[in-house]
Amino acid sequence: MLFLCKKIKNMVEICALASGSNGNSYYVGNEDEAILIDAGIYYKRLIERLKDANLDKSKIKAIFISHEHMDHIQGARVTSKKLGIPIFYTKKTYNKSYNKNKADNFGFFEPNTPYIIGDIKVHPFAKKHDAIDPCSFRIEIGKKNIGVMTDIGEVDSTLQKEFSQCDAVFLEANYDVDMLMTGIYPEHLKERVSSSKGHLSNEQALNLVEQFASNNLKTILLSHISPVNNTRELALEHFSSISEKYDVKLTSRQKISEVIKIA
Ligand SMILES: [Zn+2]
Ligand SMILES: [Zn+2]
Repeated sequence: MLFLCKKIKNMVEICALASGSNGNSYYVGNEDEAILIDAGIYYKRLIERLKDANLDKSKIKAIFISHEHMDHIQGARVTSKKLGIPIFYTKKTYNKSYNKNKADNFGFFEPNTPYIIGDIKVHPFAKKHDAIDPCSFRIEIGKKNIGVMTDIGEVDSTLQKEFSQCDAVFLEANYDVDMLMTGIYPEHLKERVSSSKGHLSNEQALNLVEQFASNNLKTILLSHISPVNNTRELALEHFSSISEKYDVKLTSRQKISEVIKIA
């Protein structure tokens, strides 16, 4: 008798290679393949961090760019070239990007149109942020759904819907409202950060979890934490009321986060 055995890929690994205003890159992969959402740190550092975490760079098949801000894109072109992998942008994001961030090997994606890389299905969707065509992502990998949801000024119904499908999420907790309002930022920056096209506060992120998390959600990686208008301790403290229900972790500007394995 002939048995046809298809290898079942059911181990998902996720981590933030970097998260914050000085650079963002989020890794989502299985046993054989992975993608990066953003490559906002330089190639050399990105490779060092993959090595630190024992992640195999040859598994990375593509980079998806969330928006054209430098902290999400500045290492993308070189990473694409060195790893021999394509970068996917929306057309508007590509056109708005500086030439030095445009890769030779590239393709386009559109919000609300899933894009398939091997066994990974990427669901991009529009978000509110002060960029030309910014997107968040839900990544369907095996039976799991991973959210990459940072740089968001306002929670809208699309975000609520996508978030509610996640098993794990990189979720922005950018600023503490009091710290921002009483802090050193000039008025125009305070307004920008807290506007509907800025960033999510600790409170907004917590509200999203409290109201829209499904029973499947297990892991929350607090992301894009401001070094000026927030502290790691404060962000964690905000989530302490739900830390028994969820595994709440921090990402970092300075080093790779813990690699979370989801079976
Ligand atoms: Zn950013
Ligand atoms: Zn941004």
